Amino acid sequence: MMAESRVPAGGTPEVPLAPPDRQPPDLELPQVRRKAGWAVMGLGVLAAEEILPAFGQAQRSRPVALVSGHADKARKLAEAYGIDETAVYGYEDGAALARNDAIDIVYVVLPNSLHAEHTVKALEAGKHVLCEKPMAVTSAECQRMIDAARAAGRKLMIAYRLHYEPFNMKVMELCRQGAIGRLKTFVSSNGQNTEAPNIRLSRDLGGGPVSDTGIYSINAARYVIGEEPVTVTATAHRPADDPRFREVPESVSYTLRYPSGVLAHCDTSFGVGVSRFFRVHGTEGFIDLHEAFAYRGQRLRLRRGSQREETLLLQPVNHFAAEMDHFSAALLDGGPVRTPGELGLADVRIIEAIDEAIRTGGPVEVAR
Ligand code: NDP
Repeated sequence: MMAESRVPAGGTPEVPLAPPDRQPPDLELPQVRRKAGWAVMGLGVLAAEEILPAFGQAQRSRPVALVSGHADKARKLAEAYGIDETAVYGYEDGAALARNDAIDIVYVVLPNSLHAEHTVKALEAGKHVLCEKPMAVTSAECQRMIDAARAAGRKLMIAYRLHYEPFNMKVMELCRQGAIGRLKTFVSSNGQNTEAPNIRLSRDLGGGPVSDTGIYSINAARYVIGEEPVTVTATAHRPADDPRFREVPESVSYTLRYPSGVLAHCDTSFGVGVSRFFRVHGTEGFIDLHEAFAYRGQRLRLRRGSQREETLLLQPVNHFAAEMDHFSAALLDGGPVRTPGELGLADVRIIEAIDEAIRTGGPVEVAR
């Protein structure tokens, strides 16, 4: 409400000092938009420590259900996040989950060997699915998931959070624009010390460093180089004296060759202190992304020709909130998802080629 100002004869104009109806005159109210309802399935470290807290920063996504094999834990988390306790399900409660119309999307955060089975069930229950990486253990499973989404008329997205993260997105843009000339090589490493017990150390659960941490380099190589690799070579080490590595290798290094001649040299290990970076070399410079695959703390450096190295500063975001909101918006407003099942399948095909290259010792062509 605007109050009139009066000018007393010969004096300064009077203006209202306090807002007359006690409301700040330019108070910005949030735009109220519908939020998609999410069910989070598999309440382990990632779901409890990153995904559920991220809903607090999401604009288009809200948690409405949980699916777990441990009802006590699930009920505690439901209470903490304001989820109705009648919307806490076990893995066998598919029919009840299907009937809950508040659930638009199921987020599958299970061990890798369970991704395909539960994704297909959720799609058949009429829900859209965001499935964690790696999409599945085999390319045949990935294809089944894609087919199930098509048959159900539902969307399937793979949780490649770095496609929604500003620093990685900036590297994609710089490379596309030729900021460092023509690309020649890509060097990438993602490793951590994985303590037992851990799903990542079990072959039955689809563990192993390539599909867990190595997949980040495989995926980043694609979004940086903009091509699919044609052949891979790889070598692995499994220390005989470390009981953690009875079923999966400790370290793997692999080289991907692209049609344009770009080479990507990558390694991954479950036996090193946390280290996550990549460097792209072009004919006119290089780009470094430190903490490239971490949840936060990305640092981007660029050197062109003989210029001094520059640091590019960007506003960080919560990766999980950005990723979930992208999917919610694709459902609510219509539109494609940026990281569909086909992308997950392409990566699993490369992982299969790496496994074969380790077994045979020779270069292996990546299946199309
Ligand atoms: P955890 O081992 O911490 O959690 C897995 C959860 O799955 C368990 O807590 C359990 O939840 C459920 N589960 C159901 N069946 C089994 C089973 N047979 N054995 C073990 N757990 C079972 O794993 P994470 O949370 O670290 O990883 C889960 C998924 O998320 C993986 O696919 C991983 O690759 C991916 N991930 C992705 C990341 C990213 O940045 N995008 C980062 C970390 C992981 P409950 O008790 O509720 O049934």
